[in-house]
Amino acid sequence: MKNKPIIIGIESSCDDTGVSIIQDRNVLSNIIIHQEIHKKYGGVVPELASRLHDINMTKAVQDAIFYAKIKPHQIDAVSFTLGPGLIGSLLVGASFAKSFSMGLGIPLLAVNHIQAHILSHFIENSNLNNSYPEFPFLGLVISGGHTQIIKVNDVFQMEILGSTLDDSVGESLDKIARILGFYYPGGPMIEFFSKNGNDKKFIFSKPVVNGLDFSFSGFKSDVSQFIKKKLKKNTLFIKQNLSDICASVQKITAEILLEKVQKAILETGIYKIALAGGVSANYEIRRKFISFAKKNTKCEIFIPKKIYTTDNGAMIAITGLFKYKRNLFDSIHTVPYSKFKKF
Ligand code: AMP
Ligand code: MG
Repeated sequence: MKNKPIIIGIESSCDDTGVSIIQDRNVLSNIIIHQEIHKKYGGVVPELASRLHDINMTKAVQDAIFYAKIKPHQIDAVSFTLGPGLIGSLLVGASFAKSFSMGLGIPLLAVNHIQAHILSHFIENSNLNNSYPEFPFLGLVISGGHTQIIKVNDVFQMEILGSTLDDSVGESLDKIARILGFYYPGGPMIEFFSKNGNDKKFIFSKPVVNGLDFSFSGFKSDVSQFIKKKLKKNTLFIKQNLSDICASVQKITAEILLEKVQKAILETGIYKIALAGGVSANYEIRRKFISFAKKNTKCEIFIPKKIYTTDNGAMIAITGLFKYKRNLFDSIHTVPYSKFKKF
Protein backbone atom coordinates (compact mmCIF):
# COMPACT_ATOMS: atom_id res chain seq x y z
CA MET A 1 0.00 0.00 0.00
CA LYS A 2 1.27 3.44 -0.94
CA ASN A 3 2.32 5.88 1.76
CA LYS A 4 0.43 8.81 0.21
CA PRO A 5 -2.31 7.29 -1.91
CA ILE A 6 -4.25 9.29 -4.46
CA ILE A 7 -8.03 8.88 -4.07
CA ILE A 8 -10.81 10.20 -6.27
CA GLY A 9 -14.08 10.95 -4.45
CA ILE A 10 -17.45 11.03 -6.24
CA GLU A 11 -20.48 12.62 -4.59
CA SER A 12 -23.94 12.53 -6.18
CA SER A 13 -26.42 12.04 -3.34
CA CYS A 14 -28.59 15.08 -4.04
CA ASP A 15 -28.27 17.96 -6.50
CA ASP A 16 -24.52 18.68 -6.51
CA THR A 17 -22.13 16.69 -8.67
CA GLY A 18 -18.92 16.72 -6.65
CA VAL A 19 -15.65 15.16 -7.74
CA SER A 20 -12.39 15.65 -5.89
CA ILE A 21 -8.92 14.18 -5.96
CA ILE A 22 -6.87 14.03 -2.78
CA GLN A 23 -3.37 12.82 -2.07
CA ASP A 24 -3.23 11.64 1.50
CA ARG A 25 -5.17 14.44 3.29
CA ASN A 26 -4.35 17.19 0.77
CA VAL A 27 -6.90 18.28 -1.79
CA LEU A 28 -5.43 18.37 -5.31
CA SER A 29 -8.72 19.36 -6.97
CA ASN A 30 -12.33 19.82 -5.90
CA ILE A 31 -14.96 20.25 -8.61
CA ILE A 32 -18.59 20.98 -7.73
CA ILE A 33 -21.22 21.38 -10.43
CA HIS A 34 -24.40 22.87 -8.95
CA GLN A 35 -27.72 22.14 -10.61
CA GLU A 36 -29.48 25.46 -11.07
CA ILE A 37 -32.61 23.90 -12.62
CA HIS A 38 -34.17 23.16 -9.20
CA LYS A 39 -34.40 26.88 -8.33
CA LYS A 40 -37.61 27.35 -10.24
CA TYR A 41 -39.28 24.31 -8.64
CA GLY A 42 -38.64 25.43 -5.04
CA GLY A 43 -36.79 22.20 -4.20
CA VAL A 44 -34.83 19.33 -5.71
CA VAL A 45 -36.73 17.35 -8.37
CA PRO A 46 -35.23 13.82 -8.06
CA GLU A 47 -35.62 12.76 -11.69
CA LEU A 48 -34.05 15.98 -12.99
CA ALA A 49 -31.23 15.64 -10.45
CA SER A 50 -30.25 12.14 -11.61
CA ARG A 51 -30.39 13.13 -15.28
CA LEU A 52 -28.12 16.11 -14.65
CA HIS A 53 -25.64 14.03 -12.64
CA ASP A 54 -25.49 11.75 -15.65
CA ILE A 55 -24.81 14.70 -17.97
CA ASN A 56 -22.27 16.41 -15.67
CA MET A 57 -20.35 13.48 -14.21
CA THR A 58 -17.84 12.87 -17.00
CA LYS A 59 -16.94 16.56 -17.23
CA ALA A 60 -16.58 16.82 -13.44
CA VAL A 61 -14.24 13.79 -13.39
CA GLN A 62 -12.19 15.09 -16.35
CA ASP A 63 -11.85 18.51 -14.71
CA ALA A 64 -10.89 16.99 -11.36
CA ILE A 65 -8.10 14.98 -13.03
CA PHE A 66 -6.97 17.99 -15.09
CA TYR A 67 -6.78 20.42 -12.13
CA ALA A 68 -5.09 17.80 -9.93
CA LYS A 69 -2.33 17.68 -12.60
CA ILE A 70 -2.27 13.89 -12.58
CA LYS A 71 -2.94 11.11 -15.07
CA PRO A 72 -5.81 8.63 -14.46
CA HIS A 73 -3.38 5.70 -13.96
CA GLN A 74 -1.90 7.50 -10.90
CA ILE A 75 -5.21 7.16 -9.00
CA ASP A 76 -5.00 4.42 -6.35
CA ALA A 77 -8.70 3.99 -5.48
CA VAL A 78 -12.15 5.35 -6.28
CA SER A 79 -14.50 6.39 -3.51
CA PHE A 80 -18.19 7.19 -3.95
CA THR A 81 -21.33 7.97 -1.93
CA LEU A 82 -23.33 4.80 -1.31
CA GLY A 83 -26.09 6.59 0.64
CA PRO A 84 -28.20 8.02 2.10
CA GLY A 85 -29.63 10.26 -0.58
CA LEU A 86 -31.84 10.30 -3.66
CA ILE A 87 -31.64 6.81 -5.10
CA GLY A 88 -31.54 7.85 -8.78
CA SER A 89 -28.74 10.34 -8.10
CA LEU A 90 -26.80 7.82 -6.04
CA LEU A 91 -27.07 5.23 -8.81
CA VAL A 92 -25.40 7.58 -11.29
CA GLY A 93 -22.37 8.16 -9.03
CA ALA A 94 -22.20 4.49 -8.04
CA SER A 95 -22.33 3.28 -11.66
CA PHE A 96 -19.62 5.74 -12.68
CA ALA A 97 -17.39 4.78 -9.75
CA LYS A 98 -17.81 1.05 -10.40
CA SER A 99 -16.96 1.43 -14.11
CA PHE A 100 -13.98 3.63 -13.22
CA SER A 101 -12.75 1.04 -10.73
CA MET A 102 -13.08 -1.79 -13.25
CA GLY A 103 -11.59 0.26 -16.12
CA LEU A 104 -8.48 1.21 -14.17
CA GLY A 105 -8.32 -1.97 -12.10
CA ILE A 106 -8.31 -0.06 -8.81
CA PRO A 107 -10.19 -0.71 -5.54
CA LEU A 108 -13.67 0.61 -4.87
CA LEU A 109 -14.58 2.39 -1.62
CA ALA A 110 -18.28 2.89 -0.78
CA VAL A 111 -18.91 5.74 1.65
CA ASN A 112 -21.69 6.80 4.00
CA HIS A 113 -22.59 10.41 3.21
CA ILE A 114 -23.21 11.47 6.83
CA GLN A 115 -19.94 9.98 8.02
CA ALA A 116 -18.24 11.83 5.17
CA HIS A 117 -19.70 15.19 6.26
CA ILE A 118 -18.16 14.65 9.70
CA LEU A 119 -14.86 13.28 8.43
CA SER A 120 -14.43 16.33 6.16
CA HIS A 121 -12.74 17.86 9.23
CA PHE A 122 -9.79 15.51 8.60
CA ILE A 123 -9.00 17.05 5.21
CA GLU A 124 -5.90 19.23 5.57
CA ASN A 125 -6.87 22.87 6.28
CA SER A 126 -10.58 22.15 5.91
CA ASN A 127 -11.76 23.98 9.00
CA LEU A 128 -11.27 27.41 10.54
CA ASN A 129 -9.37 25.82 13.45
CA ASN A 130 -6.68 24.45 11.11
CA SER A 131 -6.59 21.29 13.23
CA TYR A 132 -8.32 17.92 13.42
CA PRO A 133 -10.83 17.24 16.20
CA GLU A 134 -9.59 14.64 18.68
CA PHE A 135 -11.76 11.61 19.45
CA PRO A 136 -14.25 11.44 21.00
CA PHE A 137 -16.14 14.46 19.73
CA LEU A 138 -19.73 15.36 18.89
CA GLY A 139 -20.66 15.93 15.25
CA LEU A 140 -23.61 18.18 14.47
CA VAL A 141 -24.70 17.38 10.91
CA ILE A 142 -27.08 20.05 9.68
CA SER A 143 -27.98 19.91 6.01
CA GLY A 144 -30.77 19.78 3.49
CA GLY A 145 -31.38 16.11 4.22
CA HIS A 146 -30.16 15.58 7.78
CA THR A 147 -30.16 16.99 11.29
CA GLN A 148 -28.26 14.77 13.67
CA ILE A 149 -26.06 14.84 16.74
CA ILE A 150 -23.49 12.07 16.43
CA LYS A 151 -20.99 10.82 19.00
CA VAL A 152 -17.79 10.15 17.09
CA ASN A 153 -15.63 7.68 19.03
CA ASP A 154 -13.30 6.95 16.15
CA VAL A 155 -13.21 7.29 12.36
CA PHE A 156 -15.80 4.59 11.76
CA GLN A 157 -17.22 4.29 15.25
CA MET A 158 -20.13 6.69 15.26
CA GLU A 159 -23.30 6.65 17.30
CA ILE A 160 -26.41 8.70 16.50
CA LEU A 161 -27.53 10.43 19.71
CA GLY A 162 -30.35 12.48 18.20
CA SER A 163 -32.06 13.02 14.86
CA THR A 164 -34.88 15.06 13.45
CA LEU A 165 -38.25 13.38 13.80
CA ASP A 166 -39.57 15.13 10.69
CA ASP A 167 -38.04 17.87 8.50
CA SER A 168 -34.32 18.58 8.47
CA VAL A 169 -33.21 22.05 9.49
CA GLY A 170 -32.20 22.89 5.89
CA GLU A 171 -35.54 21.70 4.57
CA SER A 172 -37.42 23.89 7.06
CA LEU A 173 -35.32 26.95 6.14
CA ASP A 174 -35.87 26.25 2.44
CA LYS A 175 -39.64 25.95 2.95
CA ILE A 176 -39.83 29.16 5.00
CA ALA A 177 -37.71 30.87 2.34
CA ARG A 178 -40.16 29.74 -0.32
CA ILE A 179 -43.04 31.41 1.55
CA LEU A 180 -40.94 34.57 1.64
CA GLY A 181 -40.59 34.38 -2.15
CA PHE A 182 -36.99 33.12 -2.40
CA TYR A 183 -35.63 30.56 -4.82
CA TYR A 184 -34.29 27.18 -3.67
CA PRO A 185 -31.98 26.85 -1.75
CA GLY A 186 -33.42 29.48 0.53
CA GLY A 187 -31.07 29.11 3.52
CA PRO A 188 -28.41 31.44 2.08
CA MET A 189 -31.13 34.00 1.16
CA ILE A 190 -32.45 33.99 4.74
CA GLU A 191 -28.89 34.64 5.92
CA PHE A 192 -28.42 37.44 3.38
CA PHE A 193 -31.61 39.30 4.30
CA SER A 194 -31.00 38.81 8.03
CA LYS A 195 -28.06 41.16 7.95
CA ASN A 196 -29.86 44.37 8.79
CA GLY A 197 -32.80 42.76 10.55
CA ASN A 198 -34.00 42.94 14.14
CA ASP A 199 -33.81 39.33 15.34
CA LYS A 200 -36.00 40.02 18.36
CA LYS A 201 -38.92 41.48 16.42
CA PHE A 202 -40.80 38.20 15.92
CA ILE A 203 -40.82 35.45 18.52
CA PHE A 204 -41.59 32.01 17.12
CA SER A 205 -42.11 29.10 19.47
CA LYS A 206 -39.39 26.50 19.74
CA PRO A 207 -40.38 22.86 19.31
CA VAL A 208 -40.52 20.81 22.50
CA VAL A 209 -38.84 17.48 21.78
CA ASN A 210 -37.54 15.01 24.34
CA GLY A 211 -33.92 13.92 24.52
CA LEU A 212 -31.53 14.89 21.78
CA ASP A 213 -33.98 14.61 18.89
CA PHE A 214 -35.13 17.59 16.83
CA SER A 215 -38.35 18.59 15.12
CA PHE A 216 -38.49 21.36 12.54
CA SER A 217 -41.81 20.74 10.89
CA GLY A 218 -43.81 22.46 13.67
CA PHE A 219 -41.45 25.42 13.66
CA LYS A 220 -41.83 25.80 9.89
CA SER A 221 -45.66 25.63 10.17
CA ASP A 222 -45.65 28.14 13.03
CA VAL A 223 -43.68 30.64 10.93
CA SER A 224 -45.77 30.07 7.81
CA GLN A 225 -49.11 30.38 9.63
CA PHE A 226 -47.91 33.57 11.32
CA ILE A 227 -46.94 35.06 7.94
CA LYS A 228 -50.20 34.00 6.27
CA LYS A 229 -52.22 35.62 9.08
CA LYS A 230 -50.29 38.86 8.78
CA LEU A 231 -50.64 38.88 5.00
CA LYS A 232 -54.44 38.74 5.32
CA LYS A 233 -54.35 42.09 7.13
CA ASN A 234 -51.49 43.62 5.18
CA THR A 235 -50.50 42.32 1.76
CA LEU A 236 -47.17 44.14 2.04
CA PHE A 237 -46.27 42.45 5.35
CA ILE A 238 -43.41 40.36 3.93
CA LYS A 239 -41.98 43.25 1.93
CA GLN A 240 -42.07 45.61 4.89
CA ASN A 241 -40.63 43.11 7.40
CA LEU A 242 -38.41 40.85 5.31
CA SER A 243 -35.13 41.46 7.17
CA ASP A 244 -36.76 41.18 10.59
CA ILE A 245 -38.55 37.92 9.68
CA CYS A 246 -35.32 36.41 8.30
CA ALA A 247 -33.26 37.53 11.31
CA SER A 248 -35.86 36.18 13.76
CA VAL A 249 -36.10 32.80 11.97
CA GLN A 250 -32.32 32.53 11.81
CA LYS A 251 -31.86 33.42 15.49
CA ILE A 252 -34.36 30.83 16.69
CA THR A 253 -32.95 28.15 14.39
CA ALA A 254 -29.47 28.77 15.81
CA GLU A 255 -30.83 28.68 19.36
CA ILE A 256 -32.64 25.35 18.80
CA LEU A 257 -29.42 23.78 17.51
CA LEU A 258 -27.18 25.19 20.23
CA GLU A 259 -29.58 24.22 23.04
CA LYS A 260 -29.62 20.58 21.87
CA VAL A 261 -25.85 20.50 21.59
CA GLN A 262 -25.55 21.93 25.11
CA LYS A 263 -27.77 19.12 26.29
CA ALA A 264 -25.61 16.57 24.45
CA ILE A 265 -22.49 18.02 26.11
CA LEU A 266 -24.09 17.60 29.54
CA GLU A 267 -25.17 14.03 28.78
CA THR A 268 -21.89 12.83 27.29
CA GLY A 269 -19.29 15.00 29.00
CA ILE A 270 -17.78 15.60 25.54
CA TYR A 271 -16.86 19.23 24.90
CA LYS A 272 -15.48 19.05 21.36
CA ILE A 273 -18.08 19.83 18.71
CA ALA A 274 -17.64 19.61 14.94
CA LEU A 275 -20.24 21.32 12.75
CA ALA A 276 -20.93 19.86 9.31
CA GLY A 277 -23.40 20.11 6.42
CA GLY A 278 -24.72 22.96 4.29
CA VAL A 279 -26.53 24.79 7.08
CA SER A 280 -23.27 25.07 9.03
CA ALA A 281 -22.27 27.74 6.49
CA ASN A 282 -24.74 30.03 8.25
CA TYR A 283 -23.14 33.05 9.85
CA GLU A 284 -25.47 33.30 12.85
CA ILE A 285 -25.20 29.59 13.68
CA ARG A 286 -21.39 29.81 13.53
CA ARG A 287 -21.40 32.98 15.63
CA LYS A 288 -23.63 31.45 18.32
CA PHE A 289 -21.48 28.33 18.62
CA ILE A 290 -18.23 30.30 18.65
CA SER A 291 -19.51 32.67 21.33
CA PHE A 292 -20.72 29.69 23.39
CA ALA A 293 -17.20 28.21 23.22
CA LYS A 294 -15.67 31.53 24.26
CA LYS A 295 -17.78 31.56 27.40
CA ASN A 296 -17.15 27.86 28.12
CA THR A 297 -13.41 27.47 27.89
CA LYS A 298 -13.61 23.67 28.13
CA CYS A 299 -15.54 23.68 24.87
CA GLU A 300 -13.93 23.59 21.41
CA ILE A 301 -15.96 24.20 18.26
CA PHE A 302 -14.70 23.03 14.87
CA ILE A 303 -16.16 25.04 12.00
CA PRO A 304 -15.70 23.82 8.41
CA LYS A 305 -14.58 26.21 5.69
CA LYS A 306 -17.60 27.05 3.52
CA ILE A 307 -16.50 24.93 0.56
CA TYR A 308 -16.60 21.84 2.80
CA THR A 309 -20.04 22.56 4.30
CA THR A 310 -22.26 21.64 1.35
CA ASP A 311 -21.96 18.31 -0.43
CA ASN A 312 -18.52 17.86 -2.01
CA GLY A 313 -16.29 15.13 -3.42
CA ALA A 314 -13.38 15.86 -1.04
CA MET A 315 -15.32 14.60 1.99
CA ILE A 316 -16.08 11.39 0.09
CA ALA A 317 -12.41 11.04 -0.86
CA ILE A 318 -11.13 11.53 2.72
CA THR A 319 -13.61 8.95 4.03
CA GLY A 320 -12.45 6.65 1.24
CA LEU A 321 -8.85 7.25 2.29
CA PHE A 322 -9.63 6.08 5.84
CA LYS A 323 -11.25 2.94 4.42
CA TYR A 324 -8.32 2.41 2.04
CA LYS A 325 -5.83 2.58 4.91
CA ARG A 326 -7.85 -0.06 6.78
CA ASN A 327 -8.25 -2.30 3.69
CA LEU A 328 -12.03 -1.83 3.83
CA PHE A 329 -12.67 -2.30 0.12
CA ASP A 330 -16.08 -2.84 -1.46
CA SER A 331 -17.34 -5.09 -4.21
CA ILE A 332 -18.89 -3.79 -7.42
CA HIS A 333 -22.08 -5.53 -6.27
CA THR A 334 -22.52 -3.02 -3.41
CA VAL A 335 -25.97 -1.47 -3.72
CA PRO A 336 -26.77 2.20 -2.90
CA TYR A 337 -29.40 2.95 -0.26
CA SER A 338 -31.65 5.99 0.10
CA LYS A 339 -32.49 5.74 3.81
CA PHE A 340 -30.05 5.08 6.60
CA LYS A 341 -30.78 4.55 10.28
CA LYS A 342 -27.72 3.18 12.10
CA PHE A 343 -23.96 3.24 11.59
P1 AMP B 1 -26.36 20.10 1.92
O1 AMP B 1 -27.58 19.22 1.99
O2 AMP B 1 -25.31 19.75 2.93
O3 AMP B 1 -25.79 20.25 0.54
O4 AMP B 1 -26.86 21.57 2.32
C1 AMP B 1 -27.89 22.24 1.64
C2 AMP B 1 -28.76 22.97 2.64
O5 AMP B 1 -27.98 23.97 3.32
C3 AMP B 1 -29.93 23.70 2.02
O6 AMP B 1 -31.08 23.44 2.79
C4 AMP B 1 -29.53 25.18 2.11
O7 AMP B 1 -30.63 26.05 2.21
C5 AMP B 1 -28.70 25.19 3.37
N1 AMP B 1 -27.75 26.30 3.44
C6 AMP B 1 -26.69 26.52 2.65
N2 AMP B 1 -26.06 27.68 2.99
C7 AMP B 1 -26.76 28.19 4.04
C8 AMP B 1 -26.64 29.35 4.85
N3 AMP B 1 -25.66 30.24 4.65
N4 AMP B 1 -27.55 29.55 5.84
C9 AMP B 1 -28.54 28.65 6.06
N5 AMP B 1 -28.71 27.54 5.31
C10 AMP B 1 -27.84 27.31 4.32
MG1 MG C 1 -25.17 16.47 2.52
